[in-house]
Order: sequence, then structure tokens, then C-alpha cells
Amino acid sequence: MPPIQVHSYTAGAWIPPDASARPIASAVTGEVIAQAGAALDVQAMLDHARQVGGPALRATTFHDRARMLKALALHLSERKQPLYDLSFNTGATQSDHLIDIDGGIGTLFVYASKGRREMPDGQVFLDGPVEPLSRKGTFQGRHICVPKQGVAVHINAFNFPVWGMLEKLAPTLLAGMPAIVKPATASAYVTEACVRMILDAGILPDGALQLIAGPTGDLLDRLTGQDVVSFTGSAGTALQLKSTPAILSGAVPFIAEQDSLNAAILGADATPGTPEFDLFLDEAVREITTKTGQKCTAMRRLIVPDPQPVIEALQSRLAAIRIGDPRRDDVQMGALISTEQRRDVLEKAQIIGGEAELVFGSGDTAVIGADPETGAFLPPMLYHCADPDAATQVHATEAFGPVSTVMGYRDLGHAIDLANRGQGSLVASVFTRDPATARQIALGTAAFHGRLYFNNRDSAAEATGHGAPLPHMVHGGPGRAGGGEEQGGIRGVMHYMQRTAIQGSSDLLTAIGDAWVPGADEIKADEHPFRHNFSCIKIGETIHTEARQITLEDIEHFAHFTGDTFYGHMDEEAAKANPFFPGRVAHGYLLLSFAAGLFVDPDPGPVLANTGLDTLRFLKPVSPGDRVSVRLTVKQKTKRTDDYGEVRWHVTLTNQDAEAVAEYELLTMNAL
Ligand code: NAP
Repeated sequence: MPPIQVHSYTAGAWIPPDASARPIASAVTGEVIAQAGAALDVQAMLDHARQVGGPALRATTFHDRARMLKALALHLSERKQPLYDLSFNTGATQSDHLIDIDGGIGTLFVYASKGRREMPDGQVFLDGPVEPLSRKGTFQGRHICVPKQGVAVHINAFNFPVWGMLEKLAPTLLAGMPAIVKPATASAYVTEACVRMILDAGILPDGALQLIAGPTGDLLDRLTGQDVVSFTGSAGTALQLKSTPAILSGAVPFIAEQDSLNAAILGADATPGTPEFDLFLDEAVREITTKTGQKCTAMRRLIVPDPQPVIEALQSRLAAIRIGDPRRDDVQMGALISTEQRRDVLEKAQIIGGEAELVFGSGDTAVIGADPETGAFLPPMLYHCADPDAATQVHATEAFGPVSTVMGYRDLGHAIDLANRGQGSLVASVFTRDPATARQIALGTAAFHGRLYFNNRDSAAEATGHGAPLPHMVHGGPGRAGGGEEQGGIRGVMHYMQRTAIQGSSDLLTAIGDAWVPGADEIKADEHPFRHNFSCIKIGETIHTEARQITLEDIEHFAHFTGDTFYGHMDEEAAKANPFFPGRVAHGYLLLSFAAGLFVDPDPGPVLANTGLDTLRFLKPVSPGDRVSVRLTVKQKTKRTDDYGEVRWHVTLTNQDAEAVAEYELLTMNAL
């Protein structure tokens, strides 16, 4: 087979490798299977992204982009096999593919769903509530987020050629920014195949996605403050790239996900024979062997109360791991990405070996179905560090392969100190069933970790695994891990948007944010707004109801009818003694029910259902004899399906003195 010519995709054209291209060897056989690299016109790429891709994306809404992500996810879901077939050459097994390829597609699905549920069907994302900035309310403030007007440059590590791209692409596209993706050369042929599938689908606008296979030339020198770099790789490369003068002088955001000495702590309660002890061993073996240990989240340091039983159990489990051609069903661990990577891992392991004893992995590697010399195979290697306080390298040297070190702790404080010696990690896991242990470790280690993963017999069946970053949860860690914070749901989208404080009158804030702000003009409805379909109901449309007097009989009737005979409603003397009540007062829920009775239009119509209340506050007690009326205003609209959309109403209840007694947001589903 001639080597795969890994193309770049620049300004709408596929560019083949040129004379400067680098050969890429199969991890399994060592044969050259691909080549990548060409001199590219990076300025044309930046122009294309900024002038074509960005405007096209920004013309769509968050929901349009979420639908694109879902369509892409469905498109890729039907084309996984060719990606699996290619990926075996990276040394990955079929179960490794599930993390990379299926995991990447799953991330697209999650962002598609979050975009529709948690973002508006518009172009402005509102961040937080309106801030009152003046006494009379004529001048207010709020924060909005809009897409940055540059390009997101994604530089990825070799270990996840598909997930690594998609987990960055999903939040970027959802924000409305175009991306230039640069995979690590060693596995760029897999990323290229995936990019071809994405582009062939014709779902993304022109300029939304470009690909650099090979070096980036002087791309980084040409970035500005509207661009973003999101980097995954080693700490050394991150430092070099973020020191680019244009990045420093232009304050170009640089998100870094870099190496990490992740810890796993076995609780003192998790003694041999407990389910927690076994869970710890299962996850440790999985973490050492999955992706042949080339996982940024892998457990590098196993911090345990008593090392000996852990070492013995791991020795026997690791001895059962079958290594070899990752295409074979009987193989559990494939190869490292390359023989250079194997050399690098062995060098790092030797450094660790200066402070720790190798207790597993010293013998020859039995390799099934492949040549151990030409393929990049390596056995799992387990070290025991007897003096982790004196050691420095075991806490600082990342051997990016199937290598882990066991170390003992004296008490929980010591375990916490050891975990934090990683100087900032992506994840630490804790195996305990003791809530006090969990809390002490969380408080002691959270500042040093991006994610803490607790597991025990109660959560084991559904726990997602120490090593699996989830799109819903923050992925990234402080300090040595790079200080990045990818994913985490909509938090991950914010990297690609600018947060801007907007100050002005209520009318202007309403127009800018597409959401009614109290104090803004009310649109007097020509008929009850419940008669209006979703598509024609207007933001700001308002009705003011008649007033209803609240009587003592109403309160007593409601109390006996519902069973809520709380003394504040029923016992004048006790109510008076309460610092909040002038005497017996109406139930808050009675007021809500009366409010509905005042504003509801009863006949069948476009309002399909009341789906909830948000931000409910009872502001002032209502006494028998008070008269309550309601203002109901359309605050915001979000289309949910082709048949209906959600209307968010701002509701204020006032008394006879025009004082607000309750305020909330009511949600209804309205037919389109
Ligand atoms: P790497 O050598 O640092 O390379 C990372 C990326 O940077 C590759 O795409 C590489 O491209 C590119 N690169 C290198 N020099 C560059 C330059 N001068 N200009 C532009 N791009 C440049 O890391 P790796 O060996 O691929 O990955 C292993 C490391 O990544 C490990 O340390 C691991 O912990 C870390 N990692 C972290 C995470 C995380 O989420 N925190 C995830 C996975 C991996 P070329 O391949 O073309 O050189």
C-alpha cells in the first residue's frame, strides 16, 4: 500500500504533502503508512476563516449551530468503521476507539443538546441577571456574550486524533467561531479522514473548518486578540507556543491542557476484601493499560495506606494483560504511537526508577501477532516509591505510557499532600465510602485539581471512570496541567466568546439582549397574549389584571383544603410574635394560585402547558383585606421544536399600595 497522503484543507482547497513532508510509521509494524506536511499559505487560511467562516457562523443562532453539531454527530455515527480501521495503525484497540471515536461523537451530541436547552435561539448569550445601577431604575446593566470575530486555532496531541478535535470543535462552533485544526502529525491521518467526512457532509458553512496536517509555519505570529489558541500537548511545547511574541503582545487567549501527574487515593476504609479495594484495582489496571497509558488523565500515582497488598494484586492483574496487534480480539493493550514514543517513555521511566523500585514490567514483552522490535510495544510498568516525601521525580515526571507508581501514606493529611505534589493535575480519584474522608480530601485537594472523581460500591455500576473527561464537566487543571478549562458544558463555549458589560436604559438593554428588562416599555396587547401563537407573541407584550381582595376566609379555606395550617396563616398571636409577619398572612402558594386565576385566559388556545416557575420570591407579606393584582409580561422566547416554543413571562404581584409582594418567571409552552 502506498503511504496515505495526508492533505491539509486551506481556504476551500485540499493541499497534498510536499517535499517537506514527514513520514508517519504504523505503531504496530513500524512501516511508513502516511506522510504529512506542506508549506501552506497560513495568511490565506486566517483570512478565509475571519472573512468567510466567521461571518457565516455569526449569522446563525446558537440553536442553528446546535442543530449543525447534531447533524454532524449523526453523520459521523454512520461512518465510524473507516475511522476504526485507520486508528488501529496508531496502536489503539477497539475499546480505545470507543473513547476516541465514539467519545468524540458523543461530545458533539452533548453540545448539540446543551446548545438547544441552555442557550437562546438568538445571537446574544445573557450572562447573569440585570444589575440595578440607579435609584429610579432608568439606568441598568447586564453582561452579554458574543462570538469572538477571529479564528480558533486548535493544536492537538497525538493520543486522541478524533476526540481531541471534536471536543474543541463542538464548543467553538456552538459559540459561532471558525476553527483551524492542527492535529499532531503522528496520528494526523485519522484526523484528516474525520475532517473529510465532516466537510463532505456539507453541514458547515464554508470557512468554518480548516485543517493543517504538519507544521503550522508562522501561523501563531499572525494571531490577534480576536483569535483563540486551544492547545493540548506537553508542558514544554505549551510554554514555547504561548511565549510567541504575537500571543503575548496581542493578549491572545491561550488555553493549555498539558501533562499531568494524576493521583488515585485509596481510602483507609477501603481495605482488602472491600468492594472499594477491588474497584480501585480495576480502575488502576484500566488506567495503566487503556490507550497503552497514553492518556492525559491516566493514574500516574497510586496513593494507598498499605502498598504491599495493592502491589501484589496489581502484579497478578497486570500479568494477565495480553499485549499485541490491537486488531485482535484477544489483545487488551496495543502499542504506543511510535518507537520514538517508546524511547521517551523508557527514558522517563528510568528517571522514576531513580526514586522507586520497578515491581512489575521488567521482563521481555510477550507480543501477540506483531513484531515486538518494529512495533512500539511496551509492557505495563509498575513502580513502588518507598519514600514519596523525599522523592521529587515521581511527582513531576510524566512517562506518557503504561507506567504508574504506588506510594504509601500515613494519614489523610499526608495523602492530600502527596496528591498535591503533582503541582496541579487534571483529575484525582478517591475510592472510599466514608463521607468524612471524601470531604477532607475534597477540601484539601480541590484547589490543585480540575476534577475529583469519587467512587465506591454505591456509584460503581454507573460511574463513568477516572480517566473519562465528560462534556458536561470541566476538563483541565491548574498549574502544571496548564490552567485550561475545556468542556464543562456551556462553560467551555465561553472561551470562544467575549463577555461584555452593557449599561444603559431598560429599553436599550431589552433590544440588545432580546429579553425584556423591567422598566422597559410595555407593549399593550390588543387581546390576551394567551391567544397569541409563539411566532407572533412579542417580547414586552403585557397585561395588567384586575385586583382581588384576599380574605381571612380565603386563607382558612386554602389552609384546610391543602393541609398547610402553618401558624403564620392560622394563629394571630403566634404570627405576630414572628419577626416577618404583622399577624396572620396569606400563603405564598395561595397568592400564586390567585395570580393564575387573575391572568389565565381559560379557553383552549396556543398555550399548551405551564412547565414551571423560576426565581420565585415572596417580597412582602399579604394580610387579610389586602388587594393583589398582577402584571404579566412576555420576557423571552425560545423555540423548542417545529411545533412549539417556550415563552418566559415576567410576573409581578403588587398590593393596593403598588408594592411588589411577589415576583417570578413563569414558563409556558406555546404552539408555534
Ligand atoms: P507535543 O509534542 O507537545 O505536541 C502537541 C501538539 O503541538 C502537536 O500537534 C504538535 O504537532 C504541536 N506542536 C509541536 N511543536 C509545535 C510548534 N512549534 N508549532 C505548532 N505546533 C507545534 O505533545 P504530544 O506528544 O502530541 O502529546 C503528548 C502530551 O500531551 C503528553 O504530555 C500528554 O500529557 C499531553 N496531553 C494532554 C492532554 C490534556 O487534555 N491535558 C490530552 C492529551 C495529551 P506535531 O505533532 O506536528 O509536532
